Amino acid sequence: MTAQVFRGIGVSPGVAIGRALVIEARRPRAKREVLDPSRVPAEIARLTKALEDTRRQITEVQGRIASEVGAQYGRIFDAHLLILEDRLLAEETVKYIQAQHVNAEYAVQEVLEPVRQAFSRIEDGYLRERRSDVDDVGDRILRNLLGQRPTIHIERRGETILVARDLTPSDTAALQRESILGVATETGGRTSHSAIMARSLEIPAVVGVESICAHVKNQDTVILDGLEGLVIVTPDREILGHYHARKQHLDYLGRTLHKLGSLPAETVDGYRVRVTANIEFPAELAQAKAHGAEGIGLYRSEFLYLDRPDLPTEEEHFAVYRAVAEDMQPRPTIVRTLDFGGDKLASAIHLATEENPSLGLRAIRLCLHRPEMFRGQLRAILRASAFGPLRIMYPMISGVAEVRAANALLHEVKAELTEAGIPFDKAIQVGAMIEIPSAAVIADLLAREVDFFSVGTNDLIQYALAIDRVNEQVAYLYEPLHPAVLRMLRTVVSAAHNEGIWVSMCGEMAGDPLYGLLLVGLGFDELSMTPASIPLVKRIIRSITYSQAADLGHRLFGCATAQEVEQLLRQEMRSRFPEYISSAPSGHSRASSD
Ligand code: PEP
Ligand code: MG
Repeated sequence: MTAQVFRGIGVSPGVAIGRALVIEARRPRAKREVLDPSRVPAEIARLTKALEDTRRQITEVQGRIASEVGAQYGRIFDAHLLILEDRLLAEETVKYIQAQHVNAEYAVQEVLEPVRQAFSRIEDGYLRERRSDVDDVGDRILRNLLGQRPTIHIERRGETILVARDLTPSDTAALQRESILGVATETGGRTSHSAIMARSLEIPAVVGVESICAHVKNQDTVILDGLEGLVIVTPDREILGHYHARKQHLDYLGRTLHKLGSLPAETVDGYRVRVTANIEFPAELAQAKAHGAEGIGLYRSEFLYLDRPDLPTEEEHFAVYRAVAEDMQPRPTIVRTLDFGGDKLASAIHLATEENPSLGLRAIRLCLHRPEMFRGQLRAILRASAFGPLRIMYPMISGVAEVRAANALLHEVKAELTEAGIPFDKAIQVGAMIEIPSAAVIADLLAREVDFFSVGTNDLIQYALAIDRVNEQVAYLYEPLHPAVLRMLRTVVSAAHNEGIWVSMCGEMAGDPLYGLLLVGLGFDELSMTPASIPLVKRIIRSITYSQAADLGHRLFGCATAQEVEQLLRQEMRSRFPEYISSAPSGHSRASSD
């Protein structure tokens, strides 16, 4: 049998070798059955029971995921419970059964169809993706009514590689560390649910593998390389031997890497970079420390506002920030003030519908628009700063006036606390995120107003290149190495250093090993990233000299296109770190046979 090689996007590194379990894309379908009117009450009772069963199952899955993976992942299922508990769903279905005298499964299917269609028509990529939540809940109800088994059943624990078109959040619930070796899907991107969960469980995963399901059968031997973004189906003995050796080697490197966590990120010639962690929930602090974070470079505080009908109070803010400060000290934590709007939405903050939410009333603009809400958060951070080192950071700064307005509010809040005799860190550092091109261009002016910068490349790239960061159709144009992006980074770093302030990067680019050498060469003082990326980035920084990094930086600036930059950078990085850097740019390509 010939081996088939498929390329996708590696979203969780590592090699897995196992047997395929192909998850059928087939969704449950209900046939229309007309009932005798006397059977309608019994049918409604059947529906009620199915809804209760569904609720119980989702709560169980949520509890399991929360305890095995982390509370934040459990919250993915809150959206499912909200859909299920929406009174319209139950009421409309009952009405449908009463009016049409049909079976419950058919009624559920018909009631949900317009909702599905409405989600499909939404242009915003993030919201459109929520259709899979509606599908997931609908399928569960249908399966319960039809008496079918839940989606995935793993018989060969510890041997299985899941191959699927897409994995719903319920499917990913089956990804227990000991039973699944790897995951390959046709759809998805770096921020899809399955990618996030796989990374967190440290299971190798490749997404965006075109038509893989059509080419794999259950029980086929599959090799999955989450670093290179490769899936190899029915490999021959030679390929298998090669990958067994590679897997052993990577496992060994992983163990040695982990030991690096406690060492500083310092180049061979003594240039020191601070490596810190990005977190969304305090529950992630333990993971951050275990991987060797020297602090929290980005605490995305907006997650405090999610999944609740009301705003968090100042006391709630304070309790969380204090706990984080105490837990991390003496290491510093940067609390980013509320960054809402765009792809982040909260039910408690009612925003008018906007044509272009990413360019709308969000982040610092929203905070300055609602000063009372903002003051509560600032007071809470200041009060918590008496218990451990905290820093404040404003998101989405577009110009000096915004920084001044935010600082004026901060000044007032400090005066109130002083007046009331409430302790806080009088020298608390205040920084601006550089994630809008205008801020990068006037970084010299901004640097006079703050104590530090942190570059948010996720947004900076989206705004600089006009590429929606959640729209998979233009994902191929999302180029961190575009010469325009590199020039902005260089402008920002030199503006900061000219004014004597330090500069960090907290976008996803900071944690990607490919860019490690470049970012050191550009002169970043701090790199903040997802905790699991820390050991490898430290390893890269510890094995180079600053002058090698600076020299590479100069050479890269001579390139005219992102592709040229990437080719040169990848070549350089692969010659130094062949085991950690994939040979080809991630992207989609068709299968090839050996
Ligand atoms: C960024 O934009 O790079 C960033 C770190 O912020 P977020 O991803 O939360 O928008
Ligand atoms: Mg951002």
